[in-house]
Amino acid sequence: MPALSKVVQPVPETCSAELSAGEALQQLLATGADALLVEKQGTIVGLFGHREAVAAFDDGSRPVERYMRRPLPGRNVADSLESGADIMYREDTPLVLITEDEGPLFKKTSKTIGIVSALEVLAEIGKTTTDTASNKVFLGRRDLGLNVPVSPCQRACPIHQDIATYVDYVSQGRYLDSWLVIHETNPFPSMLGRLCNHPCETDCKRGWVQGPENAVSIKSLKRFATDYAWARRVKIDWQRAPENGKRVAIVGSGPAGMTAAQDLRLMGYTVDLYEREAKLGGLLSASIPHFRFDIDQLEWEMQMIVDMGVNVFLNKNVGKDIKLEQLFKEYDAVFLSVGMMTGRILPVPGSDLPEVISAMEFLRVRSYDIMPENFPRGGDVVVIGGGAVATDAAQTSIKSGARKVWMVSIEPADRLPAFGNELVEAREIGLTLHTGVIVNAIKADGAGHVSGVEFIRVDESKLEFDPESGKLLINTVQKLPGTEHVIPCRYAIFASGQIMDFAQDQGVPLTPRKLMEADTGGHTKLDKLFAGGDCVEGPSFIVNAIAWGHRTARSINEYLGAAIPRDAKPITVIETTDDHREADYYNREEPPILPADKRMDMTPVELPWNDEQAITAALRCFQCDTVHHVDESTCILCGACDDVCPEKALDVVVYGENRDTSSGGFVEICNTVLGEEFGGKAGKILVNYDRCTNCRICEDHCPVNCITFQRVRFRDDAMQMIPLTPVASRDRMPANAV
Ligand SMILES: Cc1cc2nc3c(=O)[nH]c(=O)nc-3n(C[C@H](O)[C@H](O)[C@H](O)COP(=O)(O)OP(=O)(O)OC[C@H]3O[C@@H](n4cnc5c(N)ncnc54)[C@H](O)[C@@H]3O)c2cc1C
Ligand code: SF4
Ligand code: SF4
Ligand code: SF4
Repeated sequence: MPALSKVVQPVPETCSAELSAGEALQQLLATGADALLVEKQGTIVGLFGHREAVAAFDDGSRPVERYMRRPLPGRNVADSLESGADIMYREDTPLVLITEDEGPLFKKTSKTIGIVSALEVLAEIGKTTTDTASNKVFLGRRDLGLNVPVSPCQRACPIHQDIATYVDYVSQGRYLDSWLVIHETNPFPSMLGRLCNHPCETDCKRGWVQGPENAVSIKSLKRFATDYAWARRVKIDWQRAPENGKRVAIVGSGPAGMTAAQDLRLMGYTVDLYEREAKLGGLLSASIPHFRFDIDQLEWEMQMIVDMGVNVFLNKNVGKDIKLEQLFKEYDAVFLSVGMMTGRILPVPGSDLPEVISAMEFLRVRSYDIMPENFPRGGDVVVIGGGAVATDAAQTSIKSGARKVWMVSIEPADRLPAFGNELVEAREIGLTLHTGVIVNAIKADGAGHVSGVEFIRVDESKLEFDPESGKLLINTVQKLPGTEHVIPCRYAIFASGQIMDFAQDQGVPLTPRKLMEADTGGHTKLDKLFAGGDCVEGPSFIVNAIAWGHRTARSINEYLGAAIPRDAKPITVIETTDDHREADYYNREEPPILPADKRMDMTPVELPWNDEQAITAALRCFQCDTVHHVDESTCILCGACDDVCPEKALDVVVYGENRDTSSGGFVEICNTVLGEEFGGKAGKILVNYDRCTNCRICEDHCPVNCITFQRVRFRDDAMQMIPLTPVASRDRMPANAV
């Protein structure tokens, strides 16, 4: 639907606001115009037509300003013709003033730039009336500057997922749209939908209101939308830029490398992806045990990236099989995203015995569905470490047929770094915890095989933890002599850290922690060389690796000559919305998992949600990307909105009146001076969006109906991997698809 700008006419006859209504009527009749635009100090402030003249009939001596129609928001040149027709129909007016906004939201002023008549609009759209105003999306129409109340969840998400929108789409049953929004910044929703560390949920406004355990189930809703798309085997037809003839080598196919491959391919680069494993995916496919996610969905997501024309070279160890020097010669840029896939084994006596393995190697071998050499099916296993990798190794050992599995840590049980839910799940299938001890030695039997692990107690009262990360400060560990004891076992797994093992003779700059040295954009000190992901950051999370991929792809694009304005503003999309959020206090529900006796093999344990569960969970979202829009020319500063707001999120400030202003709001949504009939009072309305729950009670109670709401979709271009909207297609649907 074309915009109103198509039929906008230049501003016609004008008259001064100081003119009397009678004089204005005479001018109207003399010019034969349908209406006069009313001008005050060089600005068009209203419209005086025959309807207004009739209203002024009794008293033609009062100024025209008293009767004129003021331009209202929502009559912008970017509005569709259909919504223009709708305004004319609803307000029974043959003419609409067309405005253009200037300045950021809440500070904006409207400038009248022309007029549109019903005849032209209706002729253009071929209708006489419209009964529904279409929900229009205005792409990048306004610069919202720093005043945008970006949803807390989106702010907290490392890849700035547009959570409010995709959650809303689930609540509307628009599951595929939801998945497409997720895919705008996230190439691996099947993984993040199950495994994300979800900083968004930690900072969800629902959690602020209802307690942290009741945040919106953002992660699980992502999984739900992804399951829906997967069941239909939907693919995305990416709109790629034309080939630009430049070549980039990416080393390592974890989430950082795959994301960069996708972004660079979309930008038109030739991308060659080198991977030393026999499969793509990095830790996702070669370490994280398959009972925690759906490997088929991961492969579907990776295939979508490969299908964009990424050239994949498996079993290629860069630094050994191919030297970095050679890549520098052959490519315009090189991105190292080699992760930290090698596990550390503590050098205690006996650590070189054949039944001692690192958790990383154990999980890597199991990921190929192979049983590691010497693994004792029916025998006992000790896992040394208290983190998430240790839990994965312990659960995998149980599911691989070990008789008894111990997980042993220095930290006491209530300070274990492992995720709480995974620990509970592991204990339900038989894991035994042994805490407050440190490994002393691996014991061998007479034949040189592992017979047990010796530990010594630590003084738990002396242990200290980093206040920010919660990690144990290792220099506070004090052994308690005389407390040595052995746990008998036939296999010992060290989950005691990961190492960045990229060949050191390749000249890659390293930090004192032996990580690759790069800035947050992935630039290293070497020309052509970029690095990102775990190999720079240290062991981290999938979502952070994806963010590294996006950022580094942009850095490479800029390095290779693309003009990226330094002061680029985030893209915003504004939608009008009538969607009222009920502030119902349903509690959060976790997705169900298989019962413990069905969790003894590598079958994925988390069960899917049905529609009802997903929609109920989605409806708990406040839609924090929604902002008020107050019509300043109508607001009478009565304070009703302030009085009824249940969250005390809004203050109506009237100059000279002593009103309560305790909301703490700073976002100004209205600033107005009233006419004489209201005693000329002036004031403003401030909102605290950290408190506002979008309940719309203020809208319902405004006596002059001047509050409406707009959704402000915020898209961070730096995390955006699609230059254009993706199109879901079913054309590759296999025969058995739903
Ligand atoms: C057991 C385990 C469980 C985890 N669980 C979670 C979880 O639940 N949630 C979460 O968010 N995060 C989890 N993580 C962390 C997450 O997997 C990583 O943070 C993430 O995969 C890092 O991505 P990356 O792209 O930087 O590197 P990686 O995923 O490590 O990928 C690096 C790739 O580079 C390849 N490579 C290395 N050297 C070379 C070379 N010389 N030549 C060619 N290729 C090379 C490797 O084979 C590998 O494929 C887990 C990690 C582990 C180990
Ligand atoms: S309520 Fe919804 S939009 Fe607000 S922070 Fe939570 S998930 Fe995000
Ligand atoms: S209720 Fe309406 S008119 Fe009254 S102050 Fe609020 S926005 Fe203005
Ligand atoms: S929508 Fe209005 S009434 Fe509801 S919390 Fe926000 S400001 Fe208060």
